[in-house]
Amino acid sequence: MTVLVCGGTGCQASDSEEIIARMRKELAARQMQDRVRVVKTGCFGFCEKGPIMEIHPDDVFYIEVSPDDVPAIVEEHLIQGRYLERLLYVNPVNGERLERNLPFYHRQLRIALRHCGLIAPEDVKEYIALGGYQALAKALFQMKPSEVIAEIRASGLRGRGGGGFSTGLKWELMSRAEGGQRYIICNADEGDPGAFMDRSILEGDPNSVLEGMALAGYAVGATHGFIYIRAEYPLAVHRLQTAIRQATGYGLLGERILGSDFCFGIEIKYGAGAFVCGEETALIHSIEGGRGEPSVKPPYPAQEGLWGKPTCVNNVETLANVPIIIERGADWYAEIGTEKSKGTKVFALAGKVNNVGLVEVPMGTTLREIIFDIGGGVKKGKRFKAAQTGGPSGGCIPAQCLDTPIDYESLLGIGSMMGSGGLIVLDEDDCMVNVAKFYLEFTVDESCGRCTACRVGTKRLHEILSRITEGKGELEDLDRLTELGGIIKDASLCGLGQSAPNPVLSTLKYFRDEYVAHIVERH
Ligand code: SF4
Repeated sequence: MTVLVCGGTGCQASDSEEIIARMRKELAARQMQDRVRVVKTGCFGFCEKGPIMEIHPDDVFYIEVSPDDVPAIVEEHLIQGRYLERLLYVNPVNGERLERNLPFYHRQLRIALRHCGLIAPEDVKEYIALGGYQALAKALFQMKPSEVIAEIRASGLRGRGGGGFSTGLKWELMSRAEGGQRYIICNADEGDPGAFMDRSILEGDPNSVLEGMALAGYAVGATHGFIYIRAEYPLAVHRLQTAIRQATGYGLLGERILGSDFCFGIEIKYGAGAFVCGEETALIHSIEGGRGEPSVKPPYPAQEGLWGKPTCVNNVETLANVPIIIERGADWYAEIGTEKSKGTKVFALAGKVNNVGLVEVPMGTTLREIIFDIGGGVKKGKRFKAAQTGGPSGGCIPAQCLDTPIDYESLLGIGSMMGSGGLIVLDEDDCMVNVAKFYLEFTVDESCGRCTACRVGTKRLHEILSRITEGKGELEDLDRLTELGGIIKDASLCGLGQSAPNPVLSTLKYFRDEYVAHIVERH
């Protein structure tokens, strides 16, 4: 038998380490440790109901497990074969207790999260047992680098960090760049408030990202990779360090990988939590030891990146998709999603939603399906007001747009953006002017200060919003917000400034009445 226990940051905060320790102790006391394997996995996604435990081969899913439940689980389930009713999920629709097939997972398709909650992320052998590093072997021994690039390009994979640029095209441009030394950088500087997609992938399946980096290195001719990760992610850092050490020990990274001529080493670099360092040129400056400030493009990193050498920057989720595309083929991947946005997207579902957690759905799934079918609707039965997507760079999507299929283009079309995948649900009690102000405060703090439009413009926007929320605003302020927001978007150097006004502009578009109410009613 196998007992899987979530060892992601969320469940660890609710004592899952203690659950694992108690389970091992209890099994040892009953001399069952050879018959029952206890596995500390990554995130199952259903964070709202953690700590999560799944028992195989019974395929039974327990929620909200506590260390004190362990003796009963061993005695009743593992020995007597009786499931513990009180730890089963209760379907809110009909009150039925579910042992498996929870509605939370019905509409999900887990590709980037394929191993999260299934394997021990600190044991590379488990990744290998499920086909890990076979894509790398296939590429090294059966494909030319140009064929790897063609496969990724044909799959339609686009950057999951927010930009949505074609990954295959990025690799192709990089492969054509002049210069000997080249670098691959994995951008793990996830900084949006409420976002935890990349952290969860790294905690749950670090080897998929390492394999993706090695494949990228082979495709573009790079022999060295860096993972730029914020130091506030200690568990993800620990699992990455473990994975790099183990993969190198098994000849899957480092010199002459799998006996081929290809060499690829990976190093971890720590960020100090500056949001702007998610921008690729700022990130590169930070790795170089400089100030984390974006620079003017061109030259693009693919031409002139880290230490002036061609550099390819891909985000964690993008890289986690790469091995399975090479393994199963571009056609398989391109079948999933919409015409222009292929594959799936991972969202960190948070805010006033019943099932807070990590969700992966095919592109084209609607917000309504994510929030109501998967997320279980708004907490306490309140009325849905808006969904904030894309973090501080994104916008607020109102109820009338709930049936919009989610992909890069359609989200832009309704004034928001995919961003890296933060999705925060707001209910009838949330003031949309305060929501816009909250995100603007964030960008004011995080602006690197290099360009005036962003440095000064966001402060002025914030002052106007403060005036309005303090009951001192005037109707002309709404025109000022629109005009200034447009100027900041046009005149800022990097994505942070260019997208900073989005929460203000989207709330002005869809919730203007709330701004007017603050001004007219003076509260
Ligand atoms: Fe810095 Fe803002 Fe200019 Fe970006 S837009 S370079 S964050 S000042």
